[in-house]
Amino acid sequence: MSINDLQTPYAVPLPQIPTIPIADSDQLFPVRRIYCVGRNYSAHALEMGHDPTREKPFFFQKNPDNLVVGKDFPYPSLSEDVHFEVELVVALKAGGRDIALKDAPGLIFGYGVGVDFTRRDLQAEAKKQGRPWTAAKAFEHSAPVSDIVPAERIPSLAQKRIWLEKNGKIEQDSDLDHMIWNVPESICELSRQFELKAGDIIFTGTPAGVNSVSVGDLIRCGVEGIANLSFAVVEGVGLEGTGA
Ligand code: MN
Repeated sequence: MSINDLQTPYAVPLPQIPTIPIADSDQLFPVRRIYCVGRNYSAHALEMGHDPTREKPFFFQKNPDNLVVGKDFPYPSLSEDVHFEVELVVALKAGGRDIALKDAPGLIFGYGVGVDFTRRDLQAEAKKQGRPWTAAKAFEHSAPVSDIVPAERIPSLAQKRIWLEKNGKIEQDSDLDHMIWNVPESICELSRQFELKAGDIIFTGTPAGVNSVSVGDLIRCGVEGIANLSFAVVEGVGLEGTGA
């Protein structure tokens, strides 16, 4: 046997696939892509200075390895104004293109709650310059998420409170019924723009009340009857891998 037989075909170490625990199970949900819905609650669209009428939804992405599972949120570099956005998270067990509305619910593996952290100052600058939101949205540790609860344990999303509190004070408090585009509609629209597959997750937009965090803050959030999540905002440690 030559030494080459022991080598892998990969030129660099194979990256790990990020996973999210499944509630009350030893199984893990492997994450392929993260999509996020923009301005999906009218009161939040209004607070950000936009028209809340029912225009087509728009999407952006975070990176799967931006997820934070079971850890605190390290305050990121390059920003003085990092905002929380609590969101219902939808995990897909199957996908497709140009999905029909009636088929969308059958593609859902489960639900959780997550926070779409945003470097709001970088986002404001990107909007002003007409540039992409990547640095504002898809930064390291930008997506804390709860365990995923299988959909069969959640018969309906109707009248489910979505909330976030910072240091014990309620900051965001709404209901999933206030989404402009409901979950099946978002899945359909996404599938016109991208091919969805098992392992994709969708952050479905945030209600009003987004605000900034500081090191030392304690965040608790949840979607009633689905999942809760709590973590602290801790001192940032620089970008992983840079030794900074
Ligand atoms: Mn968001």
